[in-house]
Order: sequence, then structure tokens, then C-alpha cells
Amino acid sequence: MIRKGGSILVVDGSEVSRTIIARILRHELEGSRVVTCGSGAEALEQLALSRFDLLTTALMLPDMDGLDLCRRIRADHAHRYMPVVVVSGDADSRLLREGFAAGVTDYFDKSLGYQAFVEFVKAFMRRNAGLVGRVLYVEDSPTAATLVRQIMERQGLQVVHTETAEQALALLEQTRAGGPKEAEGFDVVVTDFYLQGRMTGGDLLHAIRARLHYSQQEMPVLVITANDSEERQAEVFHAGANDFVTKPIVEEVLMARIRSLLLIKQQFNALKRQAEEMRRLATTDSLTGVRSRRYLLDHGEALVAERDNHPLSAMLLDIDHFKRINDSLGHLTGDHVLAALGQLLNELFEETGSLVVRFGGEEFAVIMPRCGVREANARAEVLRRKVEQLRPVNIPVTVSIGLASTMDHPDISLTRLLALADKALYEAKRRGRNRICVCSAAGPEYAALPREAGSQA
Ligand code: GH3
Ligand code: MG
Ligand code: MG
Ligand code: MG
Repeated sequence: MIRKGGSILVVDGSEVSRTIIARILRHELEGSRVVTCGSGAEALEQLALSRFDLLTTALMLPDMDGLDLCRRIRADHAHRYMPVVVVSGDADSRLLREGFAAGVTDYFDKSLGYQAFVEFVKAFMRRNAGLVGRVLYVEDSPTAATLVRQIMERQGLQVVHTETAEQALALLEQTRAGGPKEAEGFDVVVTDFYLQGRMTGGDLLHAIRARLHYSQQEMPVLVITANDSEERQAEVFHAGANDFVTKPIVEEVLMARIRSLLLIKQQFNALKRQAEEMRRLATTDSLTGVRSRRYLLDHGEALVAERDNHPLSAMLLDIDHFKRINDSLGHLTGDHVLAALGQLLNELFEETGSLVVRFGGEEFAVIMPRCGVREANARAEVLRRKVEQLRPVNIPVTVSIGLASTMDHPDISLTRLLALADKALYEAKRRGRNRICVCSAAGPEYAALPREAGSQA
């Protein structure tokens, strides 16, 4: 969510210091622009030319005092909010006394050395770099909307503006329903409290928390209120706002609040991704990369019970004479074969919305929703041939496949369906391996696709 790069203006009278600092910064802050100046006048020239995300200055400059430079910067509207860091050799009491009034953002003690300085700047840039995020902004006054939108967009935010809470809620409902991808959802909501239309900003806030069940971490909300009673402010917090700002909007205050809300959202996303990754790892077989049997036990029955998934077919496959591979070439080679087969299964079935599972040692199951017998047969045949061609670690490998479908066996549980597929698998083995059998309504049958009948015989 934090944009890479950024631009830094380093002001220091010593050419040696400038060169060293610029070199380390350029090396360590990839993608950033580092400009150096030897005097206050030069710095002001640079500032007239372009924007910087951070300025660092020595306290003593050849032509002016660092604090005076800071005052000059603050007096100029364009750079009023740019952070200014004073780099000073000694803890100067004047700096402590006058720094705040002069508009100094922070100090750095030069005696800590160049490397510490670069770490300081890096941390600073991380906290203050341009923002990336998607803001849903609700404001009914066109003048206010134009102004605030410009402020946010200047900082790199993407803004979607609506005039009413109803429109905003409709957009949030769409993304909550999982329509557009996460990337198209919103990171933060900024809403005016007073809105024309039936819903106020407070009602919108209430709907976000109580109806859409968004926590303050998942969807931070910043409320903009007129500068009114503390009671109203308390009310806004009760309704679940993360924070508020009062009108008239002060750019730096607004951006500081949004920045901290975006950080909350960013942490929420990171935790969510971590939790998903842990869940995935816990339910994935480490050797083959397909889902574990545990996952099938937890999710399989629900897949079959869901009528929208019908017809649903189940495939069981087992490597032919796998023991021979283990016995003649070693268990490790056997493992390589299993890993290669797992990868092939994932690749083949990834797009079909099927569930691929390591069912047992060298046995795999594929649960295929919205897939009838014909389609299941065709997929099984593609798989059978791909395995023939696979030759993992240069070993010829074949599989036998058993199929069963809810088309032939309606109202069946997953356990029963897999038992029927196992019957068919047994039949495929019995008939000579490297082939497909279907357990139809009448019992296990040799599956001969009209076109491929010749190749299977
Ligand atoms: P067929 O299925 O064609 O009847 O013959 P098979 O040789 O494959 O028969 P079986 O099912 O009896 O043998 C399966 C072997 O798979 C036995 C077991 O040692 C081996 N196996 C199971 N899990 C693993 C594993 O994770 N790695 C390796 N290398 N071997 C495994
Ligand atoms: Mg076997
Ligand atoms: Mg086997
Ligand atoms: Mg087996």
C-alpha cells in the first residue's frame, strides 16, 4: 500500500557529507530520487522546481541558518506540509526551543553516523511515502467534494466519490458480496456526516458495521463533521467510526488520519493473507502439492450435497505397479514420481474448479463438480495419456482410473460415491491397468469412449 521511491532533498554545506549520504540513500532506497544542495539558496531553487517528500538540512548552512530555511519553507504554500528533518552535530538547545515553532518535523543526531542516518531516513520514508489505496468518499457538497478529492488524489490515492450514503452502500454491498475482486474493493471509507437523502453518514456507518459486518480493521471509516458538539463526536465513535476530522478540512490533518487508517487496513490484509496461507499449507500435502485427505473430509460432503454442483463426478486413480518403482529404484525416486503426478493433476484440473486430493499413498481422488459421466471420462482419458507421456525422472508410469457420477447414482453421499469409484478402479486394475472404468448404475463397466476405443483396447 506504500508507494516505492519518493524524493529526498539533502541540504548540507559539506561536499563530503553530501556525497556519502546521497550514495548510501540511492543504494538503499531503491527507486527514490535523491537531490543534494550545498546551501539554503540552492535548496529554495530546487523547491521552486519540484516537489519533495522529505528535506533534510544541516543546522548550519554556509548562507543561512537551518531553522531559517525551515521557516522560509513553511511560509511558502507549496511546501507547507513537507517533512523537514534537521541534522545536527550536537543537541542544540536552540533547536529544542525554536524548532517546533520554525516547523521542524524531526531531528537527527549526526554523531550517530551516516548509516544510522540512512536508516532514519528509510524509516521516515516508509511512514510518510505517498499512499496507495482505494477510498470510497461520500460527500454531497460539490465544492467540498472537489477540494477533498484533489487532496487525496494528489497523495496518490484512488478515489471513488458518491453524493449519497445510499449509493455508497450499494457499492459496498457489491464488493462485500464478492462480486469484484479484492483489488477492486475499498480500503477506507471517508464520509461526511450530514448528507442529503434519507441516510446520514451516521446511518451509513451503522450499516457498514451492523449490516455488512465490516470490522474497524477490515473497513476503516473516517467521518467528516462540521465543527460541532462533543456529543456528536462521541456518537460518531459509538456508531463505529475509527476517527473523525472537522470542517474546514486541513489537508495535513486529513492525510495524517487517512494514512493511519490505511496502515490499519494494510495490517489487516497482511494478517488475512497469512492466515489464508497457513490454512492452505495445513490442508495441502507437502510432497505432491495437492489437497490433503483431511481437506476432503472437511469439505467434500458439502460439495456433493450442493445441488448446484450436480452432476458431480468422482475420480480415483492409482499408480500401476508403484511398488516396483520403489523396490527397484528406491523410495526417493518413488517420491519424485508422486510429486510429478501431483503437479500434473494440479495443472490439469486447476481450471475446472475440481478438488484434487492425495487420497492415500499413491492414490489420488479428483472431485469434479458440474461434470457428467461423458465429460469425466474425457478428462480421465486426457489424464491417462498425459501420465503415459510424463515419464518423471525418465521412468515410464501409468495409472488406472475409476469413475463414478451422481448422474448414475443420484442422492448419494461422497463416501458412497468414492466407494463406487474404488470398485471401478479395482476393475480397471483387474482388466490389465492403464485404463479407465466407470461404475455405472448397472455396476463397474469398461469405459470405452467411441473415439478412443481403439487406443484402450
Ligand atoms: P497396483 O496398484 O498396480 O496394483 O500395484 P502397486 O505396486 O502400486 O500396489 P500397492 O498399492 O500395493 O503399492 C503401493 C505402494 O506405494 C506401497 C507403498 O510402499 C508405496 N507408497 C505409499 N506411499 C508412498 C510414498 O509417500 N512414497 C513412496 N516412495 N512410496 C509410497
Ligand atoms: Mg494398489
Ligand atoms: Mg498402485
Ligand atoms: Mg494403491
